[in-house]
Amino acid sequence: MVATTELSVAAGSKYEPVIGLEVHVQLLTATKIFCSCSTHFGDPPNSNVCPVCLGLPGALPVLNRKAVEFATLAAMALNCRINETSIFARKNYFYPDLPKGYQISQYDKPLAEHGAIEIKVGGSTKKIGITRVHLEEDAGKSLHEGFANSSETTAIDLNRSGVPLIEIVSEPDIASPDEAYEYLTRLKEIILYTGVSDCNMEEGSLRCDGNISVRPRGQKEFGTKTEVKNVNSFRFIREALEYEIERQVGVIESGGKITQETRLYNSVEGKTYGMRSKEQAHDYRYFPEPDLLPLVVDAKWQKEIRDTLPELPEARRKRMVADYGITEQDAQVLTLTKALADQFEAAAKAARSPKRVANLVQSELMGRLKAKGLEIEQSPISMKGVAASADLVESGAISGKMLKDLYDLAFERGKDFSAIYEEEGRPEQSRDTSALEKIIDEIIAANPKQVEQYRAGKKTVVGFFVGQVMKASKGQANPQMVNDLLAKKLG
Ligand code: ADP
Ligand code: ZN
Ligand code: MG
Repeated sequence: MVATTELSVAAGSKYEPVIGLEVHVQLLTATKIFCSCSTHFGDPPNSNVCPVCLGLPGALPVLNRKAVEFATLAAMALNCRINETSIFARKNYFYPDLPKGYQISQYDKPLAEHGAIEIKVGGSTKKIGITRVHLEEDAGKSLHEGFANSSETTAIDLNRSGVPLIEIVSEPDIASPDEAYEYLTRLKEIILYTGVSDCNMEEGSLRCDGNISVRPRGQKEFGTKTEVKNVNSFRFIREALEYEIERQVGVIESGGKITQETRLYNSVEGKTYGMRSKEQAHDYRYFPEPDLLPLVVDAKWQKEIRDTLPELPEARRKRMVADYGITEQDAQVLTLTKALADQFEAAAKAARSPKRVANLVQSELMGRLKAKGLEIEQSPISMKGVAASADLVESGAISGKMLKDLYDLAFERGKDFSAIYEEEGRPEQSRDTSALEKIIDEIIAANPKQVEQYRAGKKTVVGFFVGQVMKASKGQANPQMVNDLLAKKLG
């Protein structure tokens, strides 16, 4: 208790923050939401454009069916209720990279509402409500160049104009920057599992705006919020929110008032700056998009989409703990991506001991990956390789020490375990049992009472002997060999 009180003093115990996040996720469709232009990232500027996404007069939008399916699937994964009928609306504003002068979005009738996801907060779980998930098109991209050497130009690339997005709006249920970070991590994980986006933040496939206010602890009404726009990493969002809490508490404590405004985060300085206030804020003049019919996702279509929903990370972790006798911590690492979890499960099913496979990932793989600065997806040793090595140790063919050496070689040469094992001529640990036999003989001689019990039929005493032998050999003895020799010598 003392520790938590001290922590909240640091954050200003008189005040508590209230946070709601708006996350934009780009859907992985091959073509744009209202035309058949490619969504491919990194093509030459303005090469993937047509009259529709250039906003030329008279061009008509045609809705991309796949975008609807992806958006619906994501909304389902976020436990939302799907509205059978939703309405596209025009959100009007002027911006150089918005050629139509409006963005087609959804407003009072979004695709989905009333969802929630679970996050972990200090050992327990907490539900964060999802207000809505709606479909919209992205705008183009302005590139500001040469401002440092005053040869200023702003170029506009409209390749991104009309790329399908979903916007995921959370309830103001998030109570700290750490919770915000955890929410974003879980949200991204779920979206990645559904496969509807690559959530690549560098390419802008996932963007986050943070809304934040503070209020005196215990007060029911929310304080005035500010919105921190377009922060491009989860770490920066957390920092920006931390900064905003301090700043807002400072303003209030010195008798000032928070103005509702949009702020930008400068990650180099670790500060936010006011960009535009509520008075200048946009009045978007939303109205129903006249060129598109209401979107109807009926019960039959919803069922078809729901049938493609994969097992989601949280459920998968629980099942893997039960199926393979691994720990929560194991499961956390092994479900980092869907591909990794799939690989682990395929390997674990074929392995003699799934638990040993999981143990090796934690004890031998993770440290080596960290030392090389690699993500687990980039590991030279595949899950199949880990499983193969686990089997070799399990059968007594190689020792724990040999496994470590082979792993070192695999990382040195950038090759999978099985390749290294072959290259090294399928090494085997010595079957010379004389040293082990000597240890066992000594232990048998030193424990006549347990020997007697064993010979009187209490076979479980063998566990005691195995323990003693392992201890005497400092864990180096091969368990299979120990068991075999003990059975021979005791029996
Ligand atoms: P706006 O009309 O300014 O866009 P919304 O009501 O649509 O505001 O909410 C946008 C986001 O801000 C949501 O994630 C919501 O949970 C969050 N939010 C709303 N009010 C507050 C507040 N007072 N403090 C913190 N977050 C808030
Ligand atoms: Zn187009
Ligand atoms: Mg809003």
